[in-house]
Amino acid sequence: MRWAEYFDLDTIRETIHVLKPNNALFEIRSIVKGKRKTVVSGYFTDADMLIQKLKDDKLDPRGANIYITINKINDDCYAREQHDCFKQTDATTSDHEIDAYEWFFIDMDPIRLSEISSSNKELKHAQEVSNKVYEYLKSIGFNEPIRAMSGNGYHLLYKINLPNTEEVKQIIERCLSVLADMFNTEDVKIDTVNYNQSRICKLYGTLAQKGANTPSRPHRMSKLLFVPDEIEVNGIELLDTLAGELPKVEPKKEKTRSSSSGSTTSSSEFDLESWMYEHGLEPIRKDAGNDCVIYPLANCPFDSSHTNGDSKIFHYSNGAIAFKCHHNSCRGRQWQDVREKLEPGAYDKARENEENDARIEAGYQKIKQQFMQQYATVHYADEEEVRKQLPKLKAISAEELQKMEFAERYYAVEDMIPQGETVIGAPPKTGKSWLMLDMCLKIAKGEEFLGFQTRQSDTLYLALEDGDSFEQERLNIVTGGEVAPKNFHFVFTDVMPMNEGFLLQLDDLIAQYPGIRVVVIDTLQFIKYRQGKSESAYECDYRTGRDLKKYAEKHDLAIVVVTHTTKMAHPDDAMADISGTNGVTGAADAVIVLTKKNRTDTDAQMFISGRKVRQSVHNIEFDDKCCQWQYMGVAETTNKDLREMAEKENQYINSDIRAAVLEIANNIKSDSWSGRAGELIEEAVKYSIGIRESNKEVGGFLNKMQGMFMNMDGVQIDKIKNGTGPYIYKIYSLKSHSNPFENE
Ligand SMILES: [Zn+2]
Repeated sequence: MRWAEYFDLDTIRETIHVLKPNNALFEIRSIVKGKRKTVVSGYFTDADMLIQKLKDDKLDPRGANIYITINKINDDCYAREQHDCFKQTDATTSDHEIDAYEWFFIDMDPIRLSEISSSNKELKHAQEVSNKVYEYLKSIGFNEPIRAMSGNGYHLLYKINLPNTEEVKQIIERCLSVLADMFNTEDVKIDTVNYNQSRICKLYGTLAQKGANTPSRPHRMSKLLFVPDEIEVNGIELLDTLAGELPKVEPKKEKTRSSSSGSTTSSSEFDLESWMYEHGLEPIRKDAGNDCVIYPLANCPFDSSHTNGDSKIFHYSNGAIAFKCHHNSCRGRQWQDVREKLEPGAYDKARENEENDARIEAGYQKIKQQFMQQYATVHYADEEEVRKQLPKLKAISAEELQKMEFAERYYAVEDMIPQGETVIGAPPKTGKSWLMLDMCLKIAKGEEFLGFQTRQSDTLYLALEDGDSFEQERLNIVTGGEVAPKNFHFVFTDVMPMNEGFLLQLDDLIAQYPGIRVVVIDTLQFIKYRQGKSESAYECDYRTGRDLKKYAEKHDLAIVVVTHTTKMAHPDDAMADISGTNGVTGAADAVIVLTKKNRTDTDAQMFISGRKVRQSVHNIEFDDKCCQWQYMGVAETTNKDLREMAEKENQYINSDIRAAVLEIANNIKSDSWSGRAGELIEEAVKYSIGIRESNKEVGGFLNKMQGMFMNMDGVQIDKIKNGTGPYIYKIYSLKSHSNPFENE
């Protein structure tokens, strides 16, 4: 037996010197595969002792492949029976007997049948991959490795010095996977299992003996190709960098834009292969990678000289996509860059589409929420349920529309109470109940009311505030002892709020008295919807008004809703007063407001406005003797008042102070915002609104426009005395908070 055939002693000595300097403990293992696998092991701390024992009879090199442990072994292993000698044994170094990782070991092996040596061509391919990996790791900052040829493949050994922990093990494992995904070719693969602690590596300077030694697949002497003068340690940060080298794009961001229709989006999974085809990216193969499909590209999209799989696209099983070209000039380029380069604006479009989708979704949710609120008493399980409950839309042709016959629109009281919904507001104890009683009576009899013509019909008075005995007394006074008409009906009790079935009760009653055309509800408070959890008092009132109006239209009724106006608004701003505190007027066909200068006055003004009546102001007076309101004529100042009102509205709408108050109201965190006029001016700056008026002028505006704020914007402003200092203004948004006047 010629030793030189099996061992290159100088190389072995150098290998120990560079891998295990300073008499570090190492294990040499000889494995002979055959009918029975034979393992011979020895622990050593110096090369000379090893070389001496290699010649020992106990280690027969024929057919043996000889390895060395690369990481730091627990010193106690030295006390095993194979101390400074070789023994056939199973007691070899295990993972938990490793104290530290000392080498990051990359093994590039040609793909071939098992248990045969590599051909020269295969070995050359492994060398090419090794060179690429080497260049790449150098480009991302790794220090010079030991480069070696194992006999059948190529090795790169990077010096590290890291504790044996699960975390380190996982980083190394990930690094090997990344390298494998990036550099594996058809012919060569990087071993991804070399992360384990007690990993062994070919002892360079020993003969690789896989299978038979044939001319095409010869046994080769393993050798060190390059050992740097200075072996520098690579820090964990380099491994971290490598482990993170394939940044994936989250699949949800990838949306397929149908290329045929141009702008349609689809949230279905991005069709990567079609996209590559459409954009001229030609994969040379399709490889199975680590949890991904790998498409090595014929040409890198950024540099056509990066050929033959130097750049790759990775499609992960969760849909994520990554791109990597290992050339230095492509460093940092990611999948987004590829997409943007070949499909310029792809992400802008995707973002736009996403934003659009989000907007549509938000809009849909809002509408849905509104719908659910409107039908707050009915609980639908889901959208399909809602759909089933919705009325089906019916379309009619223009021709049909022309031929349709409609009931004639009418006024229960000319120019005052139209068919539809009328809201009458007055401060408490103004005498509005007397007015309503008289009106119902006059309509029932077809007589003039306050000098206005009426259209005779049955009337229904829901006198919910005062009760039957009280109304009987009133009726007797108003009729002066005459017999009252049979077609004037009263209801005093048992009326339910609308969300508990008021309109159904009304249905039954009207079925019983089909002649009823006028229904007076005194007052709104008794029948209105109860406020939903997520709606403001204002919104709840609005809903009430709208549904009453719909009901009136459907049954051809004039519904008159009586409500209290509040004391807070300015007496000269009657419309704002009622509208501001009552969302119920939002849908009304007519609004009538009674105002008195003083509570004890017998004369009052009656403002009438709305879409179905002419705007007008009338003087009326309460006659104590007969307890009836008398008409005193059109108020002289009508036109002036109306013009002033319009001017005031205009001033309000265009004011920066209003804009600031609305911003403040919209951004109220808890209950309200309070501050002096000066503080309001400062607050406005936050919303980029520069108020030019003085503190005093701002205060004046807030006072004057309290009604407007309520009426037009649902914002309530309270003025609070602050000792001798300036007033404090308290701003509430009625849109998002309940109306504090609700129980006034
Ligand atoms: Zn490239």
